[in-house]
Amino acid sequence: MRIVSTFVLVLLTAFTAPRLAAQQAETQTPAHSGVITDSERVARLKTEVVAEVERMRDFTQQMVDQIFSFGELGFQEIETHRYLVNLLRQNGFEVEEGIAGIPTAFMASWGSGKPVIALGSDIDGIPQSSQKPGVAYRDPIVEGAPGHGEGHNSGQAVNITAALALKKIMERDKIPGTIRIWPGTAEELVGTKAYFIRAGLFKDVDVALFTHVGRNLGVSWGAAGGTGLVSVEYQFEGETAHSAGAPWRGRSALDAVELMNIGWNYRREHLPLEHRSHYIVKNGGDQPNVVPRTASVWYYFRQTTYPKLMDLWKIGDEIAEAAAQMSGTKLVNTRVLGSAWPRHFNKVIAEATYENIKQVGLPEWSEADQTLAKAVQRELGSPEQGLATRLGPLGPPLPDAQNRGGGSDDIGDISWNVPTVTLSFPSNIPGLPGHNWADSIAMATPIAHKGATAGAKAQAMTLVDILLKPEIVERAWDYFNTVQTKDMKYQPLIRPQDQPAIELNRDIMATYREEMRKYYFDPTKYKTYLEQLGIEYPTIRKQ
Ligand SMILES: [Zn+2]
Repeated sequence: MRIVSTFVLVLLTAFTAPRLAAQQAETQTPAHSGVITDSERVARLKTEVVAEVERMRDFTQQMVDQIFSFGELGFQEIETHRYLVNLLRQNGFEVEEGIAGIPTAFMASWGSGKPVIALGSDIDGIPQSSQKPGVAYRDPIVEGAPGHGEGHNSGQAVNITAALALKKIMERDKIPGTIRIWPGTAEELVGTKAYFIRAGLFKDVDVALFTHVGRNLGVSWGAAGGTGLVSVEYQFEGETAHSAGAPWRGRSALDAVELMNIGWNYRREHLPLEHRSHYIVKNGGDQPNVVPRTASVWYYFRQTTYPKLMDLWKIGDEIAEAAAQMSGTKLVNTRVLGSAWPRHFNKVIAEATYENIKQVGLPEWSEADQTLAKAVQRELGSPEQGLATRLGPLGPPLPDAQNRGGGSDDIGDISWNVPTVTLSFPSNIPGLPGHNWADSIAMATPIAHKGATAGAKAQAMTLVDILLKPEIVERAWDYFNTVQTKDMKYQPLIRPQDQPAIELNRDIMATYREEMRKYYFDPTKYKTYLEQLGIEYPTIRKQ
């Protein structure tokens, strides 16, 4: 095998070196530019992994359906964690559980030597998004319960399918390299990835391939749209008193919370347009006749760059202090419950991924798939465009002046430490609100299954690229070092005293888990979750 590898290397060097030299001489093109073409061997291995992923369709579908049926919220992904850890161990991976002090986080590893490639995807659900799959109107499995109203049930299936397809070929051809698989635990709380970095879990990683459910098969590079985020709980303390008998002796911590919110909402008009901020009252006191001694409010502050995010957070802290003064209470603690850097993706890895995306193309949607998608769009008042049938372009960087804000993902923290891309795969319906029951509908149907298979094919092909073309890793780091981090270096948003907020969502899951357990997918009895629930696909509202 060594002879073959050396031969390929010589071939690749012979092919790329003169071209690179010519480029540098003539146009000063930086070393991270230009797509590296496939050798015959690379092309053949890609065909093989794609065929293997195709054969694994049922396996992929089972994973998507199983995790959908667990519907667990961030930090409480107990069943999901157990299921994935067992599955990976059965397939030869060594798994370390409870990484970075987070019980539902793990790092699975297989293989040896360089390159080290880390495959990640989020696993947590959304409150109040329980929904029967394949049904085009609100119809919860368990009323009030959480569900996969974002689609995080599908990404691990993409990565694990791709990794196992590749593992087979690596074993056969004795290809060196290490595959890591890890979960984006509590992503909806942007709760863990900064802690993974703090724990040094990505120190020896060469490339991070992340994947996230989307509406098309795509990838982007440079500054992504959306925002970075810091999630802060402000805890106030006053004094109790009889609310009617001696209210003048009390100091209400709830007053501080309300004053902070009023202050923030007045200030909001004078904040940059692209910012986002929102809050919930986490503790509003015990009962009305006792002046609330303790109260707290939980803010998400979002901005498009790290410096702007720090400015926004400072305003929040100032308003919290002022609210404490006005109410005669104390701001006793601020706790960072989560954080996410604005995302920046690697040009070299994105270009390689996009070449593979073009070869994979979009899934063939059936009439039933399109009927469901259009019925859901109609139900939600969105244009009835159906599912994506055309690939988008390779997403270019978004200049900050054009970034109008939006969501966040703590993959941002990984992306500022290791060359990273997010592969988006077409498992959900376009035009939905996000974080909503409607976003659950497609997620255990053929739409999600086909989308995950398409994603796994692209991911497996990119893995072949990274394993067999060492210059990709070199150029990716060149982009990372000389472009991405030239003027901006990573500093964690979590402070030394902050710890993972692993208690979050415990109460909600305790309320619903036993009822939800009755509906866990049982693949020993049913082929699909739709079959288990007895749902006709698609079920649409009678007109
Ligand atoms: Zn997400």
